Amino acid sequence: MKGIFPIDKFERIQTPFYYYDTELLRATLHAINTEVSKHEGFVVHYAVKANANPKVLRVIREAGLGADCVSGGEIEAALKAGFAANKIVYAGVGKSDWEIELGLDNDIFAFNVESIPELEVINELAGQKGKTARIAFRINPDVGAHTHANITTGLAENKFGIAMSDMETVIERAAEMQHVKFVGLHFHIGSQILDMSDFEALCNRVNELQTQLENHRIRVENINVGGGLGIDYQHPNRVSIPDFKAYFDTYAKKLKLRPGQTLHFELGRAVVAQCGSLITRTLYIKEGAHKKFCIVDAGMTDLIRPALYQAYHKIENISSELPMEAYDVVGPICESSDVFAKQIDLNGAHRGDLIAIRSAGAYGEVMASQYNCRKLPQGYASDEI
Ligand SMILES: *Cc1c(COP(=O)(O)O)cnc(C)c1O
Repeated sequence: MKGIFPIDKFERIQTPFYYYDTELLRATLHAINTEVSKHEGFVVHYAVKANANPKVLRVIREAGLGADCVSGGEIEAALKAGFAANKIVYAGVGKSDWEIELGLDNDIFAFNVESIPELEVINELAGQKGKTARIAFRINPDVGAHTHANITTGLAENKFGIAMSDMETVIERAAEMQHVKFVGLHFHIGSQILDMSDFEALCNRVNELQTQLENHRIRVENINVGGGLGIDYQHPNRVSIPDFKAYFDTYAKKLKLRPGQTLHFELGRAVVAQCGSLITRTLYIKEGAHKKFCIVDAGMTDLIRPALYQAYHKIENISSELPMEAYDVVGPICESSDVFAKQIDLNGAHRGDLIAIRSAGAYGEVMASQYNCRKLPQGYASDEI
């Protein structure tokens, strides 16, 4: 055993695979619950899209979190993992009829609605079932986040949400409809956000909008501020649990909740990223003209974040104690972007060595594809191997 990994057990498992440290996941959930319990009315939903592995979902459900889903498939996965339907929120710009019907049949907590045409369809489908859908409007707060351009969602130019200037119109439309009940406002400004001032900017915007609604005598049951809290990809060991205190304290200090209102959060990455690693085996060390390549059996089909977002993941050779050498760590896929890292230091690597790609618990296994007719990577929890 070198570091935190049970290498002897890994030897028996077909690589590449995802390894989830359930002890760290439980500690992370405990840290969340500890901070949340200090604030009246705070409710946390786990954003299922970050990682829908059934074992991971079960641990999160056991900790008492609700679920935030962005598709019918995710609603099914959440229900199967035992999440209570009345703790499920459902967001997404393009909900199809069967997905809306699934939400209605299960009486989910709320649909986060992103347009008038969608509102009309939900009203109609709810009417056919003799139901009333609880709806929140996702408002685009035009608040920028200091993160990768592909993962900001709260700017006016993004496809998400309803413009602030249309907020009252859509609420009035909903009030005229028979089969929807307006319960809340929903926001989500982006992902991998580490600067608390971005969340502060959202709080200020929510305060403004709440005042505006009060002036029109419109009451809001709950506010949902989405997720987006980032993690430390550079230091997965030293900062294995994100600073949830700073995150929740920011909202407690800056967002002015009205009496009886609940404040909902949808955290994905911050819950699951650090507990997961992609474990892969070194196939070949190739001496290039100017550098060495460490060719591993995992590729962008198993973990696409480096290729898609130029994301950094810490990489370790967990089989070797040899002196450090510089390598490009690359996968076997027929794409030049199939590179996990360039010129990083690894303990001297040989064929057969196990390599851990760290902080891969979020947007890793769920984004795997079968491109090149590859097999999907399996996920294993630390307490089952
Ligand atoms: C992706 C997403 C989240 C979770 O984002 P993280 O950055 O993983 O916390 C929350 N809410 C909505 C609506 C999302 O689309």
